[in-house]
Order: sequence, then C-alpha cells, then structure tokens
Amino acid sequence: MATQLLRYLSILCVGLIWSLPSIAADHFNILLYHHISSTTPRSTSLSAQEFEGHLKYLQENNYHVIDLAVAIDAVQKNQPLPNKSVVITFDDAWRDIYLQGVPLLNKYGYPFTVFVNTDPIDQKNRHAMTWDMLRDLKSQGVNLANHTRDHDYLVRKPRYDEQWLANTLANITYAQQRLTDELGPVPKWLAYPFGEYNNSLKNALKERGYIAFGQQSGGVAQFSDWQALPRFPAAGPYSNLKTLKTKLASQPFPANYAAFKNPVIRVDQGGNSQPLLGVELTTAQRLGVRQQLSCFIVGERETPVWQDKMHFTVSASKALGKGRNRYNCTAPIWGQKNYYWLSHQWLIYGGEAAPKE
Ligand SMILES: [Zn+2]
Repeated sequence: MATQLLRYLSILCVGLIWSLPSIAADHFNILLYHHISSTTPRSTSLSAQEFEGHLKYLQENNYHVIDLAVAIDAVQKNQPLPNKSVVITFDDAWRDIYLQGVPLLNKYGYPFTVFVNTDPIDQKNRHAMTWDMLRDLKSQGVNLANHTRDHDYLVRKPRYDEQWLANTLANITYAQQRLTDELGPVPKWLAYPFGEYNNSLKNALKERGYIAFGQQSGGVAQFSDWQALPRFPAAGPYSNLKTLKTKLASQPFPANYAAFKNPVIRVDQGGNSQPLLGVELTTAQRLGVRQQLSCFIVGERETPVWQDKMHFTVSASKALGKGRNRYNCTAPIWGQKNYYWLSHQWLIYGGEAAPKE
C-alpha cells in the first residue's frame, strides 16, 4: 500500500514539474538490468548491494525515476518531463528481480518495467517468476511487457522471407496473449531478445502499433526510432558508477535514427563486416561540437567524417567479429559538461545456428 502511494506520488510530482518549464526536458534515459544476484552470470548481473548503490546515486543526485508509460506519453505528445528523468527496466522475469530487486525499488519508491518471456513462466522454471509474482507486481503498478515467448534469436535465421516474418510475429503475439490472459491489459511494448532485430521486423511491429526496445546505448526523444529505442545496459561490466554517471547525464544525440541502416550484416551473403553508419542530424551542431565528435567501435577510437553540417559517417577500421558489435559516438553539449550519445548495434551474422547464451 505504502509502495503504491509512493508510486502515485512520483507520478504526481512529474505532473507538478510539467508546470515548471525551466526545469523541463524533452528526453529521458532508460537503464537496462537483467539479474539482481551475485550468483548468476556476471555479464548480465549485479548484486543487490551494487543495485542499491545505483538507486542511492539516482536519489542523491536528483534524478527523477519515472514510469515508462508516463515518459513515453510525454515525449510523444511533446510535453516536458523533469530534467534528469530516468526509467528502470528489466529484461527476463528472473525470480531474483522479485526477491532482491523489488524490495529495494519499493524502498526508494521507484517505478519500473519488466519485459517478460512467457514460456519459462508457463513451464514453472524455478529461476523465473511465477504468474502470481507477476500479478503481485502488476497490482503494485509495475509495467509488464513483452520479451517474446521463448527468448529466441529473432534474426539469426537462414532467410528473412514471409514465413520467417509470420513465425516471428506469431512468437511475439503469443507472448502478448499469454501476458494479457494472465495479467489483464499490458502495453504493446517489445524488448528484442539480445537487442537483435532487422528492418523488416521493425516495420512490421510499427504497422501493428508496437513500441520496441533494443540494447544499444542512448536516450529517448521524439526523434528516436520508436521501434528500436535505446537503453543503457547497467549490469556486469556496465555497472560501475564511474562510467554509468556519464551515461545517466547524457542526452540523446539529435539524429534521424529511423533512417539507420539495417543492423544485420549477412557476411555469408556478401555483407561488409566494416559497416558504414551514415548519420543525419536533426539539428545543426556548432563547429566546436562537430570537431569534438568521437566514435568508439569495439574499444577503438574511430574518426567520423563530416560530409556537411548535418551529415557524418563512421565505420570500423578492422573487420567486426561475428555476433553483436556496437558503434558509440559522443559529442559535448554546448555550454554543458555533459554529452550527446548515439549508438547503433550491428549483428555480424554468417547464417550459423544461434549460440546458447
Ligand atoms: Zn532477455
């Protein structure tokens, strides 16, 4: 009850801040977590203690942790959000989130969203939450959304024909139906497993009214690609507050993300494993900012090339390895210590069977 009250209060506060344009923002950042545990794979985990460190940092540094539905609604309607707005999300409905994460989130009164793959819940996997646990979260005002039924690699398939698209959409629709049957209405939001998608899937989801989320870094603004919204991974190697601080304070780089190239590079079909990312800005940046744009690809600094004030390109100087690779670019925000952040995830894929992760 107290938790619910805190959440409603946080929504009310957002409402009050809307009337103060001087501290209003047109964007927000999303944090992505998986496990809250010290015994699960480190790459997707952080301990309860580390997680509380993040929550404490957000509180002490005047971040507004807001509800994802509220945040999306405000940005889409061009209504202001509080400055330093952050959204907390979890992929995979692991039981440790319920046991270790939720009590901490309730302590701080922070709203959050869990993207659920439904088969483990139906199969009563002991590491996954139960439907009763999910119903309990829903009654507390937590957003529950779609992460497919089986967490398959959606685009590590031989070909992307009509049959593939029908099967992929059936997977997503099945999960949406299971969520609705067990929990009542849930938003049409999909988190791509492993953040992997291609443009045909993205377009099909758009036609069907879904908003979808990837695992590349960056913030959300009106100019974002709403079928590939970025989130900052915040577990394992990304859990260190020193680096997370910079990301939390960053703003989405103003670019036309929906025009980005197809993120799947089929090297078995002649795809170039040093893909060129062309970026079109939505607002011109000052020369100083343009000169300080820097891009990082697999730990290497790569020099972006400006075509004109509104366009640049960047590509890897070495062939990218198979699997997921990210291009990250940042530029200082004029008059601030903070950065604009842009990221694109590529999947370099040779048609092989999907790995077990
Ligand atoms: Zn997942």
